[in-house]
Amino acid sequence: MRVVVAGAGLAGLTAAADLARAGAEVTVLEARDRVGGRTRGVEVAPGSWADAGAAYLGDRHTELHAVLARLGLKTTPTTMAGESTFALGNGRDTRPGRFPPLNAVALGELFDLLDEQTAAVRAEAPWLTAQAAAADDLTAREWAERHLSHPDAKLFFPLFLGEMMAADPADVSVLHMAFYLRSGGGLRYLNAFEGGAQQDRVDGGAHQICEQLALRLGRRVRLSEPVRAIHQDAGGASVRTDQGEFRCDAVVVALPPRLADGIDYRPGLPVSRSSDRTAPGCAVKVHLIYPEPLWRAYGLSGWSVSSRGPLLSTVDDSPADGGAGVLTGFVTGREAHRYAALTAAEQRAEALAQAAGLFPRLPPPTGFHVTDWVGEEYSRGCYAALFGPGDWVRHGPHLTSAHQRVHWAGTETSTEFFGLMEGAIRSGHRVAGEILTIGRVA
Ligand SMILES: Cc1cc2nc3c(=O)[nH]c(=O)nc-3n(C[C@H](O)[C@H](O)[C@H](O)COP(=O)(O)OP(=O)(O)OC[C@H]3O[C@@H](n4cnc5c(N)ncnc54)[C@H](O)[C@@H]3O)c2cc1C
Repeated sequence: MRVVVAGAGLAGLTAAADLARAGAEVTVLEARDRVGGRTRGVEVAPGSWADAGAAYLGDRHTELHAVLARLGLKTTPTTMAGESTFALGNGRDTRPGRFPPLNAVALGELFDLLDEQTAAVRAEAPWLTAQAAAADDLTAREWAERHLSHPDAKLFFPLFLGEMMAADPADVSVLHMAFYLRSGGGLRYLNAFEGGAQQDRVDGGAHQICEQLALRLGRRVRLSEPVRAIHQDAGGASVRTDQGEFRCDAVVVALPPRLADGIDYRPGLPVSRSSDRTAPGCAVKVHLIYPEPLWRAYGLSGWSVSSRGPLLSTVDDSPADGGAGVLTGFVTGREAHRYAALTAAEQRAEALAQAAGLFPRLPPPTGFHVTDWVGEEYSRGCYAALFGPGDWVRHGPHLTSAHQRVHWAGTETSTEFFGLMEGAIRSGHRVAGEILTIGRVA
């Protein structure tokens, strides 16, 4: 059986590896000149790498752990020892733990409300949730306006959503917000470092997973070949790129929904994969590089939360090999769009000024790196696509339904750990199983 896979991210390469192992003739067509998609490494010191894309994982990410074990890659704990830094409103505060210096009752009520929404959603089929249409019509911003009255809850909610989903509350439906939290294991699991979804990082960078998968697939992976068209007829499918045409029995489209919609399908898709309300998620990662993790000597974890940008949060992402000290700054939501539009000099000046305010005892960083996912032509959704009003009800039921010989993968097709590396890998295994079952039956 001949299978063409569009997209060499975690989903596409997982599917390709499974299919090749089962004896299929596989070709992977990747638009960029590199594999990995939303995983990507940045060299912060000679031979030392940090994650410019996906970074964190937890124990429940079982398929991710399985692939790491197969590839011989190790994990390293995300370091959180020391006091947290908060700049919420005026001034700066450091204290143990991660609970912000805001009204505890108001934040407790906010988390209870979010828990209620999360518990109500049908994780495996959000569109079948009771009153799904109403929850899918309302944006998270409108929900917050209706339900949050305390100024501290109003202040914290967009920061929380930015950190969890790289989302502006105006861009996601309440159904999507609740689904995302549920799919990822609940808000406490998603938000936690020790024992949670951010417990560990891949030693040397998560980008190595795709690089190693691609290495094993060898010449089956073709770079710089964006898929433009998929035309099907009675005998098979033809996948077109600018360089040529690939005839096959089945196609895996392992792209974020808006990019999947950019392909010319014949026959056309009965239902599109996205709408004009499907927002492309928005994150810019800033790496501040020091000779070593200097903040640790001052009893600080390097973790911070700020109510003003650009660096809405920072995390100690220093490589385990001791090659450098790295603070990763997250610029998310609406702030990501503003920051992405600045010149490189303005970006640097803003980030360094804020870092100096957050960590006044640190010298200026010796290195500085910005990864702008907002402008990435071949991602359109970082961390993941944001389903806006109407999206789940309209597109949800069709996300994994094959269009004749065309099968769908990608983290946005996974109802388990949607938006995460784990969701991408699970979708890759699912789609390979789907195609192999059909191949056996045919
Ligand atoms: C800044 C950032 C931080 C993140 N943090 C985390 C984290 O800490 N933990 C976590 O688990 N996840 C995180 N994620 C999310 C994680 O990266 C994604 O869920 C996952 O990598 C998605 O994999 P995928 O294969 O579904 O899609 P992608 O990685 O997007 O792969 C799709 C591939 O298709 C290619 N492509 C696009 N169009 C075409 C075309 N027409 N033809 C051929 N190829 C095409 C793209 O170039 C890409 O390589 C983060 C993402 C970002 C950007």
